[in-house]
Amino acid sequence: MVNPVRVQKITEKDYSNGTVIYEMCRELRAHDNDALLFAQDLAKSNGCKLVVHYRIYNYLWQGATARFYDWVIASLKEVEATLRVHAIPLVIIFEDNKLYARDTKISHIPHDTGAVVIEEIPLHFARKWKDIYLAHHNTIPLYEVDARNCIPVWELSHKQEFAARTIRSKVHAKLGGYLEEYDKLTTHTANADLLTKMQPIDWNDIRKKIICDESVAEVDWIHAGEKAAHKQLTHFLSEKLQEYDESRNSINIDGQSNLSPYISHGNISRRRIVLELLRTTGVEIRSAFDPVQNGSNGKLGSIAAFIEECVVRAELCENFCYYNHAYDKVTGFPAWAKETLDAHKHDAREYTYTYKQLEKGETHDRLWNAAQLQMVQTGKMHGYMRMYWAKKILEWTKSPEDAMKFAVKLNDTYELDGRDVGGYVGCAWSIGGVHDRPWFTRPIFGTIRYMAVSGVEKRGSIEEYITKFASPPKLV
Ligand SMILES: Cc1cc2nc3c(=O)[nH]c(=O)nc-3n(C[C@H](O)[C@H](O)[C@H](O)COP(=O)(O)OP(=O)(O)OC[C@H]3O[C@@H](n4cnc5c(N)ncnc54)[C@H](O)[C@@H]3O)c2cc1C
Repeated sequence: MVNPVRVQKITEKDYSNGTVIYEMCRELRAHDNDALLFAQDLAKSNGCKLVVHYRIYNYLWQGATARFYDWVIASLKEVEATLRVHAIPLVIIFEDNKLYARDTKISHIPHDTGAVVIEEIPLHFARKWKDIYLAHHNTIPLYEVDARNCIPVWELSHKQEFAARTIRSKVHAKLGGYLEEYDKLTTHTANADLLTKMQPIDWNDIRKKIICDESVAEVDWIHAGEKAAHKQLTHFLSEKLQEYDESRNSINIDGQSNLSPYISHGNISRRRIVLELLRTTGVEIRSAFDPVQNGSNGKLGSIAAFIEECVVRAELCENFCYYNHAYDKVTGFPAWAKETLDAHKHDAREYTYTYKQLEKGETHDRLWNAAQLQMVQTGKMHGYMRMYWAKKILEWTKSPEDAMKFAVKLNDTYELDGRDVGGYVGCAWSIGGVHDRPWFTRPIFGTIRYMAVSGVEKRGSIEEYITKFASPPKLV
Protein backbone atom coordinates (compact mmCIF):
# COMPACT_ATOMS: atom_id res chain seq x y z
CA MET A 1 0.00 0.00 0.00
CA VAL A 2 1.21 3.51 -0.82
CA ASN A 3 2.18 5.47 2.32
CA PRO A 4 -0.96 7.61 2.97
CA VAL A 5 1.24 10.64 3.74
CA ARG A 6 2.12 10.70 0.03
CA VAL A 7 -1.56 11.25 -0.87
CA GLN A 8 -3.83 14.29 -0.46
CA LYS A 9 -7.57 14.22 -1.02
CA ILE A 10 -8.40 17.46 -2.86
CA THR A 11 -12.19 17.16 -3.01
CA GLU A 12 -14.42 16.50 -0.03
CA LYS A 13 -16.07 13.35 -1.35
CA ASP A 14 -14.39 9.98 -0.89
CA TYR A 15 -14.10 7.39 -3.61
CA SER A 16 -16.83 4.78 -3.44
CA ASN A 17 -17.28 3.27 -6.90
CA GLY A 18 -16.54 3.63 -10.60
CA THR A 19 -13.54 3.70 -12.95
CA VAL A 20 -10.40 5.29 -11.58
CA ILE A 21 -8.48 7.54 -13.96
CA TYR A 22 -4.80 8.24 -13.39
CA GLU A 23 -3.65 11.39 -15.20
CA MET A 24 -0.01 10.67 -15.95
CA CYS A 25 1.87 13.89 -16.59
CA ARG A 26 5.47 14.22 -15.45
CA GLU A 27 6.00 10.74 -13.98
CA LEU A 28 6.55 8.82 -17.22
CA ARG A 29 7.15 5.38 -15.73
CA ALA A 30 5.06 2.29 -15.02
CA HIS A 31 7.20 0.94 -12.16
CA ASP A 32 7.99 2.69 -8.87
CA ASN A 33 5.18 5.16 -9.48
CA ASP A 34 3.16 5.89 -6.34
CA ALA A 35 0.47 7.77 -8.28
CA LEU A 36 -0.20 4.73 -10.46
CA LEU A 37 0.05 2.33 -7.52
CA PHE A 38 -2.36 4.43 -5.47
CA ALA A 39 -4.82 4.60 -8.39
CA GLN A 40 -4.64 0.83 -8.74
CA ASP A 41 -5.18 0.28 -4.99
CA LEU A 42 -8.20 2.58 -5.12
CA ALA A 43 -9.76 0.83 -8.12
CA LYS A 44 -9.04 -2.61 -6.70
CA SER A 45 -10.63 -1.73 -3.36
CA ASN A 46 -13.94 -1.81 -5.24
CA GLY A 47 -13.17 -4.22 -8.05
CA CYS A 48 -13.32 -1.29 -10.50
CA LYS A 49 -11.54 -0.42 -13.70
CA LEU A 50 -8.34 1.61 -13.97
CA VAL A 51 -7.39 3.74 -16.98
CA VAL A 52 -4.27 5.86 -17.48
CA HIS A 53 -4.48 9.12 -19.43
CA TYR A 54 -1.69 11.17 -20.97
CA ARG A 55 -2.73 14.57 -22.35
CA ILE A 56 -0.95 16.34 -25.18
CA TYR A 57 -1.61 20.08 -25.17
CA ASN A 58 -1.44 20.52 -28.89
CA TYR A 59 -0.94 24.23 -29.50
CA LEU A 60 2.79 24.77 -29.08
CA TRP A 61 2.21 24.31 -25.36
CA GLN A 62 4.69 26.52 -23.48
CA GLY A 63 6.99 26.44 -26.50
CA ALA A 64 7.29 22.64 -26.46
CA THR A 65 9.93 21.23 -28.79
CA ALA A 66 10.58 18.04 -30.75
CA ARG A 67 13.37 17.40 -28.22
CA PHE A 68 10.76 17.39 -25.46
CA TYR A 69 8.07 15.37 -27.26
CA ASP A 70 10.42 12.77 -28.74
CA TRP A 71 11.55 12.03 -25.19
CA VAL A 72 7.93 11.89 -24.01
CA ILE A 73 6.83 9.57 -26.83
CA ALA A 74 9.77 7.19 -26.36
CA SER A 75 9.00 7.08 -22.64
CA LEU A 76 5.28 6.50 -23.19
CA LYS A 77 5.88 3.66 -25.65
CA GLU A 78 7.62 1.78 -22.87
CA VAL A 79 4.92 2.73 -20.36
CA GLU A 80 2.22 1.48 -22.75
CA ALA A 81 3.96 -1.89 -23.17
CA THR A 82 4.31 -2.41 -19.41
CA LEU A 83 0.76 -1.30 -18.68
CA ARG A 84 -0.55 -3.64 -21.37
CA VAL A 85 1.12 -6.61 -19.64
CA HIS A 86 -0.81 -5.57 -16.51
CA ALA A 87 -4.10 -5.12 -18.41
CA ILE A 88 -4.15 -1.35 -17.96
CA PRO A 89 -4.98 0.85 -20.96
CA LEU A 90 -3.03 4.01 -21.72
CA VAL A 91 -5.15 6.61 -23.51
CA ILE A 92 -3.51 9.51 -25.33
CA ILE A 93 -5.72 12.58 -25.35
CA PHE A 94 -5.11 15.54 -27.63
CA GLU A 95 -6.22 18.78 -26.03
CA ASP A 96 -6.50 20.86 -29.20
CA ASN A 97 -8.57 23.59 -27.61
CA LYS A 98 -6.88 25.90 -25.19
CA LEU A 99 -7.69 23.98 -22.05
CA TYR A 100 -7.04 26.89 -19.82
CA ALA A 101 -9.36 29.33 -21.52
CA ARG A 102 -12.14 30.45 -19.19
CA ASP A 103 -14.98 27.92 -18.79
CA THR A 104 -13.25 25.16 -20.73
CA LYS A 105 -13.91 21.80 -19.16
CA ILE A 106 -11.41 18.99 -18.99
CA SER A 107 -12.17 16.47 -21.71
CA HIS A 108 -12.55 12.71 -21.31
CA ILE A 109 -13.80 12.68 -17.73
CA PRO A 110 -17.09 10.78 -18.12
CA HIS A 111 -19.83 11.14 -15.50
CA ASP A 112 -19.37 7.54 -14.36
CA THR A 113 -15.75 8.20 -13.39
CA GLY A 114 -15.29 7.16 -9.75
CA ALA A 115 -12.10 9.09 -8.99
CA VAL A 116 -9.25 10.93 -10.64
CA VAL A 117 -5.67 10.64 -9.43
CA ILE A 118 -3.16 13.35 -10.31
CA GLU A 119 0.52 13.84 -9.56
CA GLU A 120 1.85 16.57 -7.28
CA ILE A 121 3.24 19.14 -9.72
CA PRO A 122 3.90 22.61 -8.29
CA LEU A 123 3.92 24.34 -11.69
CA HIS A 124 1.48 26.89 -13.14
CA PHE A 125 -0.18 24.60 -15.71
CA ALA A 126 -0.88 21.92 -13.12
CA ARG A 127 -2.33 24.43 -10.67
CA LYS A 128 -4.63 25.71 -13.41
CA TRP A 129 -5.67 22.17 -14.30
CA LYS A 130 -6.61 21.57 -10.68
CA ASP A 131 -8.58 24.84 -10.51
CA ILE A 132 -10.53 23.93 -13.64
CA TYR A 133 -11.16 20.46 -12.31
CA LEU A 134 -12.54 21.87 -9.07
CA ALA A 135 -14.71 24.36 -10.97
CA HIS A 136 -16.29 21.79 -13.29
CA HIS A 137 -15.80 18.27 -11.97
CA ASN A 138 -15.63 18.58 -8.19
CA THR A 139 -18.31 15.96 -7.64
CA ILE A 140 -15.75 13.36 -8.71
CA PRO A 141 -13.18 12.69 -5.97
CA LEU A 142 -9.72 14.01 -6.83
CA TYR A 143 -6.58 12.66 -5.19
CA GLU A 144 -3.08 14.10 -5.53
CA VAL A 145 -0.05 11.88 -5.02
CA ASP A 146 3.51 13.07 -4.54
CA ALA A 147 5.28 10.53 -6.74
CA ARG A 148 8.28 12.81 -7.26
CA ASN A 149 9.87 13.51 -3.92
CA CYS A 150 11.50 11.14 -1.48
CA ILE A 151 9.74 12.99 1.34
CA PRO A 152 6.32 14.32 0.27
CA VAL A 153 6.67 18.07 -0.35
CA TRP A 154 3.82 18.91 2.06
CA GLU A 155 5.41 16.73 4.75
CA LEU A 156 9.05 17.80 4.46
CA SER A 157 8.25 21.41 5.36
CA HIS A 158 5.10 23.45 5.85
CA LYS A 159 6.64 26.65 4.53
CA GLN A 160 8.96 28.05 1.90
CA GLU A 161 12.49 27.31 3.10
CA PHE A 162 15.16 30.02 3.00
CA ALA A 163 18.11 27.94 1.88
CA ALA A 164 19.69 24.51 1.71
CA ARG A 165 20.89 24.96 5.29
CA THR A 166 17.32 25.33 6.60
CA ILE A 167 15.90 22.31 4.78
CA ARG A 168 18.94 20.01 5.15
CA SER A 169 18.32 19.05 8.79
CA LYS A 170 14.69 18.27 7.95
CA VAL A 171 15.73 16.01 5.07
CA HIS A 172 18.34 14.29 7.22
CA ALA A 173 15.85 13.72 10.04
CA LYS A 174 13.03 12.42 7.83
CA LEU A 175 14.57 10.66 4.83
CA GLY A 176 15.17 7.34 6.58
CA GLY A 177 11.43 7.09 7.29
CA TYR A 178 10.52 7.57 3.64
CA LEU A 179 12.72 5.05 1.90
CA GLU A 180 10.18 2.23 1.83
CA GLU A 181 10.43 -0.24 -1.07
CA TYR A 182 7.79 0.28 -3.77
CA ASP A 183 4.86 -2.10 -4.19
CA LYS A 184 4.74 -4.02 -7.44
CA LEU A 185 2.19 -3.08 -10.10
CA THR A 186 -0.24 -6.01 -10.47
CA THR A 187 -2.50 -7.25 -13.25
CA HIS A 188 -5.74 -5.31 -13.21
CA THR A 189 -8.27 -8.11 -13.62
CA ALA A 190 -11.29 -5.78 -13.46
CA ASN A 191 -10.10 -4.41 -16.82
CA ALA A 192 -10.65 -7.78 -18.59
CA ASP A 193 -13.26 -6.46 -21.04
CA LEU A 194 -11.30 -3.27 -21.66
CA LEU A 195 -8.28 -5.38 -22.50
CA THR A 196 -9.99 -7.07 -25.42
CA LYS A 197 -10.70 -3.63 -26.94
CA MET A 198 -7.17 -2.34 -26.36
CA GLN A 199 -5.60 -1.60 -29.74
CA PRO A 200 -1.88 -0.86 -29.73
CA ILE A 201 -1.24 2.88 -29.97
CA ASP A 202 -0.03 4.09 -33.35
CA TRP A 203 2.88 6.17 -32.06
CA ASN A 204 3.94 7.37 -35.50
CA ASP A 205 0.49 8.78 -36.02
CA ILE A 206 0.53 10.44 -32.58
CA ARG A 207 3.93 11.98 -33.24
CA LYS A 208 2.82 13.31 -36.65
CA LYS A 209 -0.13 15.09 -35.03
CA ILE A 210 1.91 16.87 -32.36
CA ILE A 211 2.38 20.59 -32.88
CA CYS A 212 5.73 21.64 -31.49
CA ASP A 213 8.93 23.49 -32.37
CA GLU A 214 10.54 20.95 -34.70
CA SER A 215 13.72 23.02 -35.04
CA VAL A 216 14.92 21.88 -31.61
CA ALA A 217 15.60 18.26 -32.41
CA GLU A 218 16.23 15.23 -30.22
CA VAL A 219 19.83 14.34 -29.37
CA ASP A 220 21.56 11.00 -29.84
CA TRP A 221 23.90 10.63 -26.85
CA ILE A 222 21.17 9.70 -24.37
CA HIS A 223 17.96 7.70 -24.77
CA ALA A 224 14.63 8.10 -23.04
CA GLY A 225 12.68 5.66 -20.92
CA GLU A 226 12.66 3.58 -17.76
CA LYS A 227 15.09 0.93 -18.94
CA ALA A 228 17.60 3.49 -20.13
CA ALA A 229 17.25 5.37 -16.83
CA HIS A 230 18.10 2.26 -14.82
CA LYS A 231 21.04 1.53 -17.11
CA GLN A 232 22.31 5.07 -16.60
CA LEU A 233 21.97 4.68 -12.82
CA THR A 234 23.84 1.35 -12.83
CA HIS A 235 26.61 2.91 -14.90
CA PHE A 236 26.86 5.88 -12.56
CA LEU A 237 26.96 3.77 -9.41
CA SER A 238 29.57 1.35 -10.73
CA GLU A 239 31.79 3.67 -12.78
CA LYS A 240 31.37 7.27 -11.63
CA LEU A 241 30.18 7.49 -8.03
CA GLN A 242 33.66 6.99 -6.57
CA GLU A 243 34.89 10.22 -8.18
CA TYR A 244 31.62 12.19 -8.05
CA ASP A 245 32.64 14.54 -5.25
CA GLU A 246 35.93 15.34 -6.98
CA SER A 247 34.83 15.58 -10.58
CA ARG A 248 31.20 16.75 -10.75
CA ASN A 249 32.26 20.41 -10.95
CA SER A 250 35.10 19.88 -13.45
CA ILE A 251 33.86 21.41 -16.67
CA ASN A 252 35.78 19.06 -19.00
CA ILE A 253 35.00 15.83 -17.16
CA ASP A 254 31.76 13.90 -17.53
CA GLY A 255 31.62 13.57 -13.75
CA GLN A 256 27.92 14.13 -13.11
CA SER A 257 25.39 11.30 -13.18
CA ASN A 258 23.49 12.58 -16.25
CA LEU A 259 20.33 11.38 -14.53
CA SER A 260 18.52 14.72 -14.67
CA PRO A 261 16.70 14.15 -18.01
CA TYR A 262 15.35 10.88 -16.58
CA ILE A 263 14.43 12.37 -13.22
CA SER A 264 12.82 15.37 -14.83
CA HIS A 265 10.65 13.26 -17.16
CA GLY A 266 9.89 10.84 -14.34
CA ASN A 267 11.57 7.86 -16.03
CA ILE A 268 13.10 7.06 -12.66
CA SER A 269 12.24 8.23 -9.15
CA ARG A 270 14.78 9.84 -6.88
CA ARG A 271 13.67 7.42 -4.14
CA ARG A 272 14.66 4.50 -6.35
CA ILE A 273 18.03 6.17 -6.99
CA VAL A 274 18.70 6.53 -3.25
CA LEU A 275 17.53 2.95 -2.56
CA GLU A 276 19.91 1.62 -5.22
CA LEU A 277 22.75 3.84 -3.99
CA LEU A 278 22.41 2.43 -0.46
CA ARG A 279 21.91 -1.14 -1.65
CA THR A 280 24.93 -1.24 -3.93
CA THR A 281 27.28 0.56 -1.54
CA GLY A 282 26.01 -1.15 1.62
CA VAL A 283 26.01 2.21 3.40
CA GLU A 284 23.35 3.00 6.02
CA ILE A 285 21.29 6.14 5.44
CA ARG A 286 22.46 7.76 8.73
CA SER A 287 26.17 7.56 7.87
CA ALA A 288 25.46 8.42 4.22
CA PHE A 289 24.77 12.01 5.28
CA ASP A 290 27.82 12.49 7.39
CA PRO A 291 30.68 13.97 5.38
CA VAL A 292 32.96 14.10 8.44
CA GLN A 293 32.51 10.45 9.23
CA ASN A 294 32.67 9.66 5.54
CA GLY A 295 35.77 11.70 4.79
CA SER A 296 35.72 14.36 2.10
CA ASN A 297 37.25 12.18 -0.63
CA GLY A 298 36.44 8.88 -2.25
CA LYS A 299 33.20 6.96 -2.39
CA LEU A 300 31.77 7.82 1.01
CA GLY A 301 32.31 11.56 0.54
CA SER A 302 30.75 11.14 -2.86
CA ILE A 303 27.69 9.43 -1.41
CA ALA A 304 27.11 12.40 0.90
CA ALA A 305 27.66 14.85 -1.98
CA PHE A 306 25.30 12.97 -4.27
CA ILE A 307 22.52 12.77 -1.66
CA GLU A 308 22.99 16.49 -1.04
CA GLU A 309 22.28 17.17 -4.74
CA CYS A 310 19.76 14.46 -5.51
CA VAL A 311 17.64 14.87 -2.38
CA VAL A 312 18.42 18.06 -0.43
CA ARG A 313 18.86 20.41 -3.41
CA ALA A 314 16.22 18.76 -5.57
CA GLU A 315 13.60 18.78 -2.79
CA LEU A 316 14.50 22.39 -1.97
CA CYS A 317 13.54 23.24 -5.58
CA GLU A 318 10.21 21.45 -5.19
CA ASN A 319 9.64 23.25 -1.89
CA PHE A 320 10.26 26.64 -3.53
CA CYS A 321 7.86 26.09 -6.42
CA TYR A 322 5.25 24.52 -4.15
CA TYR A 323 5.10 27.45 -1.74
CA ASN A 324 6.08 30.33 -4.05
CA HIS A 325 3.64 30.81 -6.93
CA ALA A 326 5.97 33.35 -8.60
CA TYR A 327 8.77 30.78 -8.80
CA ASP A 328 9.74 31.82 -12.36
CA LYS A 329 9.49 35.60 -11.93
CA VAL A 330 11.39 38.44 -10.31
CA THR A 331 8.43 38.92 -7.96
CA GLY A 332 9.27 35.54 -6.46
CA PHE A 333 12.79 36.63 -5.42
CA PRO A 334 13.52 37.37 -1.74
CA ALA A 335 12.94 41.00 -0.62
CA TRP A 336 16.68 41.80 -0.21
CA ALA A 337 17.36 40.60 -3.78
CA LYS A 338 14.47 42.59 -5.31
CA GLU A 339 15.67 45.71 -3.48
CA THR A 340 19.29 45.41 -4.55
CA LEU A 341 18.41 44.57 -8.17
CA ASP A 342 16.03 47.49 -8.27
CA ALA A 343 18.68 49.85 -6.90
CA HIS A 344 21.04 48.79 -9.71
CA LYS A 345 18.45 48.54 -12.48
CA HIS A 346 19.77 51.61 -14.28
CA ASP A 347 23.48 50.83 -13.94
CA ALA A 348 25.32 51.10 -17.25
CA ARG A 349 25.68 47.79 -19.08
CA GLU A 350 28.84 47.37 -21.15
CA TYR A 351 27.10 44.76 -23.29
CA THR A 352 23.43 44.09 -23.88
CA TYR A 353 22.11 41.28 -26.04
CA THR A 354 18.76 40.34 -27.49
CA TYR A 355 17.17 36.95 -26.90
CA LYS A 356 18.12 35.88 -30.44
CA GLN A 357 21.78 36.87 -29.99
CA LEU A 358 21.94 34.89 -26.78
CA GLU A 359 20.15 31.94 -28.33
CA LYS A 360 22.66 31.79 -31.17
CA GLY A 361 25.61 32.11 -28.80
CA GLU A 362 26.67 35.39 -30.38
CA THR A 363 28.14 37.28 -27.44
CA HIS A 364 31.68 38.66 -26.99
CA ASP A 365 32.34 35.91 -24.39
CA ARG A 366 33.57 32.69 -26.06
CA LEU A 367 33.16 30.72 -22.83
CA TRP A 368 29.54 31.76 -22.47
CA ASN A 369 28.87 31.01 -26.14
CA ALA A 370 30.35 27.53 -25.71
CA ALA A 371 28.07 26.85 -22.72
CA GLN A 372 25.05 28.04 -24.70
CA LEU A 373 26.07 25.84 -27.65
CA GLN A 374 26.62 22.85 -25.37
CA MET A 375 23.00 23.25 -24.27
CA VAL A 376 21.67 23.78 -27.80
CA GLN A 377 23.63 20.91 -29.30
CA THR A 378 23.51 18.28 -26.55
CA GLY A 379 20.47 19.25 -24.45
CA LYS A 380 22.60 19.33 -21.30
CA MET A 381 24.85 22.14 -20.21
CA HIS A 382 27.42 21.19 -17.60
CA GLY A 383 26.03 21.83 -14.10
CA TYR A 384 28.81 24.21 -13.09
CA MET A 385 28.56 26.23 -16.30
CA ARG A 386 24.83 26.76 -15.76
CA MET A 387 25.55 29.17 -12.91
CA TYR A 388 28.01 31.25 -14.94
CA TRP A 389 25.65 31.17 -17.92
CA ALA A 390 22.63 32.51 -16.02
CA LYS A 391 24.57 35.18 -14.12
CA LYS A 392 25.96 36.59 -17.36
CA ILE A 393 22.42 36.88 -18.71
CA LEU A 394 21.68 39.20 -15.77
CA GLU A 395 24.79 41.24 -16.63
CA TRP A 396 23.94 41.56 -20.35
CA THR A 397 20.21 42.24 -20.42
CA LYS A 398 18.30 45.45 -19.84
CA SER A 399 16.61 44.37 -16.61
CA PRO A 400 16.40 41.47 -14.15
CA GLU A 401 12.90 40.81 -15.56
CA ASP A 402 14.35 40.30 -19.05
CA ALA A 403 17.20 38.23 -17.64
CA MET A 404 14.83 35.88 -15.85
CA LYS A 405 12.50 35.65 -18.86
CA PHE A 406 15.35 34.89 -21.28
CA ALA A 407 17.14 32.42 -19.00
CA VAL A 408 13.95 30.48 -18.24
CA LYS A 409 12.94 30.39 -21.91
CA LEU A 410 16.35 29.21 -23.12
CA ASN A 411 16.53 26.62 -20.35
CA ASP A 412 13.00 25.34 -21.07
CA THR A 413 13.60 25.23 -24.82
CA TYR A 414 16.92 23.44 -24.96
CA GLU A 415 17.62 21.52 -21.76
CA LEU A 416 16.46 17.90 -21.69
CA ASP A 417 15.81 18.42 -18.00
CA GLY A 418 14.09 21.80 -18.55
CA ARG A 419 10.43 22.80 -18.01
CA ASP A 420 10.71 21.68 -14.41
CA VAL A 421 11.45 22.98 -10.92
CA GLY A 422 15.26 22.62 -11.15
CA GLY A 423 15.42 25.07 -14.04
CA TYR A 424 13.19 27.71 -12.45
CA VAL A 425 15.07 27.58 -9.17
CA GLY A 426 18.50 27.40 -10.86
CA CYS A 427 17.71 30.61 -12.78
CA ALA A 428 16.19 32.25 -9.68
CA TRP A 429 19.25 31.33 -7.60
CA SER A 430 21.66 32.77 -10.18
CA ILE A 431 19.73 35.92 -11.05
CA GLY A 432 17.64 36.56 -7.95
CA GLY A 433 19.54 35.28 -4.91
CA VAL A 434 16.93 32.61 -4.14
CA HIS A 435 18.33 30.27 -1.44
CA ASP A 436 21.47 32.43 -1.36
CA ARG A 437 22.53 35.42 0.77
CA PRO A 438 23.76 38.95 -0.01
CA TRP A 439 27.44 39.22 -1.09
CA PHE A 440 29.58 42.27 -1.88
CA THR A 441 28.04 45.12 -3.87
CA ARG A 442 28.85 45.34 -7.59
CA PRO A 443 27.34 47.20 -10.54
CA ILE A 444 24.17 45.62 -12.01
CA PHE A 445 24.26 42.72 -9.52
CA GLY A 446 24.03 44.80 -6.36
CA THR A 447 24.60 42.21 -3.63
CA ILE A 448 23.60 39.21 -5.76
CA ARG A 449 26.54 36.78 -5.85
CA TYR A 450 28.80 37.44 -8.85
CA MET A 451 30.70 34.78 -10.76
CA ALA A 452 33.89 35.66 -12.59
CA VAL A 453 35.66 33.75 -15.32
CA SER A 454 38.51 33.16 -12.84
CA GLY A 455 36.11 30.98 -10.84
CA VAL A 456 35.45 28.82 -13.89
CA GLU A 457 39.19 28.57 -14.66
CA LYS A 458 39.63 26.69 -11.39
CA ARG A 459 37.24 24.04 -12.75
CA GLY A 460 39.22 23.10 -15.85
CA SER A 461 40.74 24.46 -19.05
CA ILE A 462 38.47 27.05 -20.57
CA GLU A 463 40.06 26.63 -24.01
CA GLU A 464 39.42 22.88 -23.92
CA TYR A 465 35.77 23.50 -23.07
CA ILE A 466 35.39 26.13 -25.79
CA THR A 467 36.96 23.86 -28.43
CA LYS A 468 34.43 21.12 -27.72
CA PHE A 469 31.39 23.29 -28.37
CA ALA A 470 32.76 25.83 -30.81
CA SER A 471 30.66 25.08 -33.88
CA PRO A 472 27.53 27.19 -34.20
CA PRO A 473 24.12 25.52 -33.83
CA LYS A 474 21.76 25.21 -36.75
CA LEU A 475 19.13 27.69 -35.75
CA VAL A 476 16.45 29.12 -37.96
C1 LIG B 1 20.85 28.26 -14.24
C2 LIG B 1 20.60 26.84 -13.83
C3 LIG B 1 19.67 26.10 -14.52
C4 LIG B 1 19.39 24.79 -14.14
N1 LIG B 1 18.44 24.09 -14.84
C5 LIG B 1 18.05 22.87 -14.40
C6 LIG B 1 16.99 22.19 -15.06
O1 LIG B 1 16.39 22.68 -16.00
N2 LIG B 1 16.64 20.96 -14.58
C7 LIG B 1 17.29 20.38 -13.53
O2 LIG B 1 16.94 19.25 -13.15
N3 LIG B 1 18.28 21.01 -12.88
C8 LIG B 1 18.70 22.23 -13.29
N4 LIG B 1 19.73 22.87 -12.65
C9 LIG B 1 20.37 22.22 -11.49
C10 LIG B 1 21.62 21.35 -11.86
O3 LIG B 1 22.52 22.10 -12.61
C11 LIG B 1 21.21 20.09 -12.62
O4 LIG B 1 20.25 19.38 -11.87
C12 LIG B 1 22.38 19.13 -12.86
O5 LIG B 1 23.42 19.78 -13.54
C13 LIG B 1 21.84 17.95 -13.67
O6 LIG B 1 22.84 17.08 -14.10
P1 LIG B 1 23.06 15.65 -13.45
O7 LIG B 1 21.81 14.88 -13.31
O8 LIG B 1 24.15 15.00 -14.23
O9 LIG B 1 23.54 16.11 -12.01
P2 LIG B 1 24.16 15.35 -10.73
O10 LIG B 1 25.23 16.22 -10.25
O11 LIG B 1 24.54 13.97 -11.12
O12 LIG B 1 22.98 15.38 -9.73
C14 LIG B 1 22.04 14.32 -9.57
C15 LIG B 1 20.67 14.90 -9.43
O13 LIG B 1 20.60 15.78 -8.33
C16 LIG B 1 19.74 16.88 -8.62
N5 LIG B 1 20.51 18.11 -8.61
C17 LIG B 1 21.83 18.27 -8.87
N6 LIG B 1 22.20 19.56 -8.73
C18 LIG B 1 21.10 20.23 -8.38
C19 LIG B 1 20.83 21.59 -8.09
N7 LIG B 1 21.76 22.55 -8.10
N8 LIG B 1 19.57 21.94 -7.78
C20 LIG B 1 18.59 21.02 -7.73
N9 LIG B 1 18.78 19.70 -7.98
C21 LIG B 1 20.02 19.32 -8.30
C22 LIG B 1 19.17 16.63 -10.00
O14 LIG B 1 17.95 15.93 -9.87
C23 LIG B 1 20.23 15.75 -10.62
O15 LIG B 1 19.74 14.96 -11.66
C24 LIG B 1 20.04 24.20 -13.02
C25 LIG B 1 20.99 24.96 -12.33
C26 LIG B 1 21.26 26.26 -12.73
C27 LIG B 1 22.28 27.06 -11.96
